[in-house]
Amino acid sequence: MLDLAAEHAAYQPELDAAWHQTLREAAFIQGPAVGEFAAALGAHLGQLGQLGSGENPHVVPCANGTDALLLALLSLELPLGTEVIVPAFTYIAPLEVAALLGLRPVLVDVRPDTFNLDPAAVRAALSPRTGAVVAVHLFGQCADLEELTSICRAAGVALIEDNAQALGAAYTFADGRQAAAGTVGEVGTTSFFPSKNLGCLGDGGALFTADPARAERLRQLASHGQSRKYQHQRPGLNSRLDTLQAALLLVKLRHLPAAQARRQAIAARYDAALADVSGVHRPARDPRSSHVFHQYTLVVEVPGGRDALQQRLRQHGITSAVYYPLAMHEQPGYTFLNYKPGNFPVAERLSRQVLSLPVHPALANEQVEHVARIVATA
Ligand SMILES: *Cc1c(COP(=O)(O)O)cnc(C)c1O
Repeated sequence: MLDLAAEHAAYQPELDAAWHQTLREAAFIQGPAVGEFAAALGAHLGQLGQLGSGENPHVVPCANGTDALLLALLSLELPLGTEVIVPAFTYIAPLEVAALLGLRPVLVDVRPDTFNLDPAAVRAALSPRTGAVVAVHLFGQCADLEELTSICRAAGVALIEDNAQALGAAYTFADGRQAAAGTVGEVGTTSFFPSKNLGCLGDGGALFTADPARAERLRQLASHGQSRKYQHQRPGLNSRLDTLQAALLLVKLRHLPAAQARRQAIAARYDAALADVSGVHRPARDPRSSHVFHQYTLVVEVPGGRDALQQRLRQHGITSAVYYPLAMHEQPGYTFLNYKPGNFPVAERLSRQVLSLPVHPALANEQVEHVARIVATA
């Protein structure tokens, strides 16, 4: 699914230099690269759209994307038992952190075309106990931010954007304002897990916010609740981005636009090659969002089903992946939420029909055509 070695080979000397400089400087925790990377990423997001404020979003680095979600929810200071709306079809992290914090996860079904939160279902799930909505921008395309911001604003509920998969995407609102994915809600989160579009060479994550006071609170929460050394304002975490990872991310951020363009070109090739293949539904494009194709995900309704197609790809030496094989309410560790089969029909169906094809930037055109040919003979 992924060829990180080939991707890194293209700019190996830059990575080597960052690595060696970090070794020489020996400031492995909170070294200068951490702040430099946060500023560079903020500027990158600012260029993608500023919602009229003219300021770059504040970027608060942390240890990984799951911690980012944990810190985001902690920063809202929600009372125990507050309901947090999360998608029924997603990665486990948003559900997991809400449960760990003693909040009440409320699952909501997704749209069959974009795989993202269904705004009508969010509206129906709101209650006087709702404190936050976590919108996951799944596979590289923004959720319906227009509807979700207006729903959350009207209900007085915080919007958290889990942007682990759509870093670099931009969203255009009906009034023409454009915003970078992750900078619209009260807090945005991301992950630099190696396979993400901007991945480091280990674990890493970050939070985004437009509010300087919230940025300061997030910084404290990520550092034992400290305002200054040994002055603890609140209980927090030890959740830092290593200097080494920040130095490597500074290099990789420079190459992100090219990598993103390559992902989009590969997706366009798949789109063209699979246009007339019956039973194979290509990823829907929401015209309001760019799509940075963290995954190129098909919905497969061919004879024999998704698993038969995956098997055939495997026989031809092609790795594909199922993100995700279970809806959230089907996860064995979450039966305490008391949902039943049939509660989230779209999420359940997608978990049995989705198949993600290789879309990493080092993929050659011939490889893309080869994959598409095998899929087309389904
Ligand atoms: C990867 C991912 C996370 C978690 O990130 P980690 O850095 O692995 O903790 C959270 N949410 C989504 C949607 C992800 O894809």
